[in-house]
Amino acid sequence: MIHSPESILARAEQGERITPEEALTLYREGDFLAIQKTARELRNRRHDPGVATYTMFRVVNYTNFCNVECTFCSFMDEIGSGKGYVLTTDQIRDKMKESLEIGCDQMFLQGGVYPELPFEYYTDVLSATKSLGDIHIRGFSPVELISMEKTFGMSLREVVRKLKAAGLDSVPGAGAEILTERMRQVLSPKKTTVSEWVRALETCHEEGLLGSANVVFGSEETQEEVIEHLRVVRELQDRTHGFLSFIPWTFQQQTKRFKVRNIPATEYLKVLGICRIFLDNIDHIETSLMVLGTGVGCIALHGGADDISSVILEENVLRSYGLKSEEKVLDFLRDSGFRPQYRTLMYEHKDRKIPQAA
Ligand code: SF4
Repeated sequence: MIHSPESILARAEQGERITPEEALTLYREGDFLAIQKTARELRNRRHDPGVATYTMFRVVNYTNFCNVECTFCSFMDEIGSGKGYVLTTDQIRDKMKESLEIGCDQMFLQGGVYPELPFEYYTDVLSATKSLGDIHIRGFSPVELISMEKTFGMSLREVVRKLKAAGLDSVPGAGAEILTERMRQVLSPKKTTVSEWVRALETCHEEGLLGSANVVFGSEETQEEVIEHLRVVRELQDRTHGFLSFIPWTFQQQTKRFKVRNIPATEYLKVLGICRIFLDNIDHIETSLMVLGTGVGCIALHGGADDISSVILEENVLRSYGLKSEEKVLDFLRDSGFRPQYRTLMYEHKDRKIPQAA
């Protein structure tokens, strides 16, 4: 039976789970303001309507050598090109020392896929960073983890356990822009398959490494493929409950060989609303100010999102529209009509001494 967008939204508001087919109907035919209204209602039932959260972390891209060659990536350098870099353990420690001095005790460790690095490199970086103090380390997307499994002849579970023992606290669910085989072939044929992505995160969640997931749209994916991506994430979440948050991103133009479809703000906001409605088992929906700017970010917070992700202290992979200081984030959230609340990468609220608004 085919339901109208209005009846799908009404049922979602009553707490019913919507099907992938119904999510697709919303994407194709739903009115974006009606979707936003339902998404806002669902957001406000889970979270204080007057509060929006943010966090702050240091991104450390430990190497830009990568053998995956995603068509959209301008960050990587080919292995053997001589142009790339690998940060030493000391350089990474120094970056986190600087971050601690300005009150940032969370690190996002991410790199290209460079199989020539020994496994001890990763464990040394983790333990050396941890030795600085109480630092939360999020790191290694599924593509990096699967590469370690293949390179070091260990089971994935063993890789994950050893990284965790060395200091890894949580994992990003990145590294799969659109979870379909067709889009993998378009974007990154050498990247992890859908089933490898699921296996990597399922293993991490089972081993107590929780994290986030995202979708990246705005290339040649179909609407069906966006919803299929959400279906895969929701099913995994039903099994593991390891995703604390979900973030819809749009592609940014980075390379000439990759064609970006410009996403209108209305479509981004519609997809964000559908994420809130469809992903009924994920608590937090983040909007990223880096992709469409603060104007759209403000509306997103009133249409399903409860968090603006982060103040990112270093970002090499994306062209950035992000807010680079905590003061700017606080101003933005207050101007958008919310009380700002700092949270950790694990979504624990934490009091911080923050500057008062003028
Ligand atoms: S996006 Fe990541 S995996 Fe893909 S080429 Fe760039 S660095 Fe490598």
